[in-house]
Amino acid sequence: ETEDERTAKASQLFENFVQMSTCKGTLQAFSILCRQLELDPMDYSNFYSSLKTAVTSWKVKALWTKLDKRAQQKVYSQNKACQGTRCLIIGGGPCGLRTAIELALLGCKVVVIEKRDTFSRNNVLHLWPFTIEDLRGLGAKKFYGKFCAGSIDHISIRQLQLMLLKICLILGIEVHVNVEFLKLVEPPEEQTDDSPSWRADIQPSSHSVSDFDFDVVIGADGRKNTLDGFSRKEFRGKLAIAITANFVNRNTTAEAKVEEISGVAFIFNQKFFLELKEETGIDLENIVYYRDNTHYFVMTAKKQSLLDKGVIINDYVETERLLSSDNVNQEGLLSYAREAADFGTNYQLPSLDYAINHYGQPDVAMFDFTSMYASENAALIREKHGHQLLVALVGDSLLEPFWPMGTGCARGFLAAFDTAWMVKAFAQGKNSLEILSERESIYRLLPQTTNENINKNFDQYTIDPATRYPNLNSSHVRPHQVKVGLEGICPLEELDKVAREREFWVRPDRLLTWCQRQTNGYRGVDITNLTSSWRSGLALCALIHKQRPELIDYDSLHEDEVAANNQLAFDVAERHLGIQPVTTGKEMVAGAEPDKLLMVLYLSKFYVAFRNLPG
Ligand code: FAD
Repeated sequence: ETEDERTAKASQLFENFVQMSTCKGTLQAFSILCRQLELDPMDYSNFYSSLKTAVTSWKVKALWTKLDKRAQQKVYSQNKACQGTRCLIIGGGPCGLRTAIELALLGCKVVVIEKRDTFSRNNVLHLWPFTIEDLRGLGAKKFYGKFCAGSIDHISIRQLQLMLLKICLILGIEVHVNVEFLKLVEPPEEQTDDSPSWRADIQPSSHSVSDFDFDVVIGADGRKNTLDGFSRKEFRGKLAIAITANFVNRNTTAEAKVEEISGVAFIFNQKFFLELKEETGIDLENIVYYRDNTHYFVMTAKKQSLLDKGVIINDYVETERLLSSDNVNQEGLLSYAREAADFGTNYQLPSLDYAINHYGQPDVAMFDFTSMYASENAALIREKHGHQLLVALVGDSLLEPFWPMGTGCARGFLAAFDTAWMVKAFAQGKNSLEILSERESIYRLLPQTTNENINKNFDQYTIDPATRYPNLNSSHVRPHQVKVGLEGICPLEELDKVAREREFWVRPDRLLTWCQRQTNGYRGVDITNLTSSWRSGLALCALIHKQRPELIDYDSLHEDEVAANNQLAFDVAERHLGIQPVTTGKEMVAGAEPDKLLMVLYLSKFYVAFRNLPG
């Protein structure tokens, strides 16, 4: 085999992989590629560069240039920002895969598990300009030649998943299909050198992923999130019934001429909807039509017209019952959606034959959007037997989109970047409460984020939220307001109680300096930190004595009476300053050193109570 022949073969194998149009086909072509070129996909940190060295044909150059440019962003620190951090991603939807890519660029070891082995959703996602730019930067056109050609600003879910899957594989991410996440498995109590860390209980249980130890787990499994610790907020709106329909696209010139409808709001186009109602009896609030692999329609229909047209059989108050399959006339639904599509495109689509869905049925579906869900929080940290685990949600698990508005993919990608930013902070060992409070602060922006109010210089976008959100206030949510999921780091209830009483938190470094100043010169007090320096209780007593000498007889205290000193300070502070104790004198004796977070919360109250007094 000559050099030229080898190059040609490698190129051919790679092109086969790139051209694959199914999930399974892609994974197969990838494994053939690796085998033939003797590349080890498990060697994640070198995989991309080995692949680049092996596949050098001109056809692929542009892709390598793009991916290199992306990988060289400063935030990734040359692929070393998160070296050694292991991440499990649950769900191979667009948001899980997009998050995986960022984590891999940061240098994490990334494993994605997806319970299905097909990408079969014909439905089409609206792309905001930044997502188009983002995907172009990852080489979208190489994987899907028609990607956002001309003024097209949408893509079918399956095409999007397919291209992201290919990028994941190229970057050395492990993707396993037919693997379903069931629950987290805590690290065992008995810790030896080779004890497992956090693991996942999966189906099939014999799969190698069940032996994967990880530090970060990302829930990207869609609207029915399976990870514990995230309560769902419900936004109840007025009744909203959405219908999606996909028709076969034969790619004829006649079809290509038909104008797309990119979201016609009722208020903007009353005439259209009135005429539709008059002519057909169909009453809609909006309708979207995108041409992709299929002719895709999504519309919100009024209940009365669905009843009148015999789509819904009986009228019920509860939407679940109203839309249950035995109350829906499938034939009626098929003709309702077809008629709306026909009218909406001015009868210009030559034939409206339904495309076939995953279940072998005509691809039409009705969904209830009366209640929309969002997770209360975006992330939490667990700690068990010395192992920390960062748990985060992205995509529909985090914030459910209203499809006719087409916000799902864009907000999903933003959350994927924000999550990667948090993983970076976590990998760098930043303070847990600060990591979580920053993440929650950014998450608060997500539902309000629109294409109009995000930064417009898309080429500057990185995982750093400051490059994307113009009105970023990373400390909107204060560390003490991060209530969920800190089990093991500090007693939650205490933290919660303290936080609820008084809404404040002083930055630890400022607090430390202030405490040092206040207690300067006191016998037996030498504050160098917010933990062990406080154990004897003298520092606390000194802090109180400095401002209220009448409350404590400092000279009578003994350094080794730990329980008594602390209890005295706690009692005095509670009675005279209204500051609730966070622990007891006895516990101060028992513990090696006080918990830092609790101390920060506790001392913050003294700071607030005393800061305006001279001293
Ligand atoms: P998803 O795309 O839902 O991906 C989640 C993935 O996780 C899935 O592949 C699922 O198989 C996998 N999974 C779930 N549970 C587990 C588990 N326990 N273990 C392993 N894997 C698991 N949006 C629109 O804007 N317009 C539409 O018309 C539209 N139609 C949709 C139709 C359907 C049937 C669905 C489910 C979603 C639709 N959406 C639509 C929403 C859109 O697909 C999402 O906003 C977008 O794909 C981003 O979602 P995601 O990646 O967070 O989750």
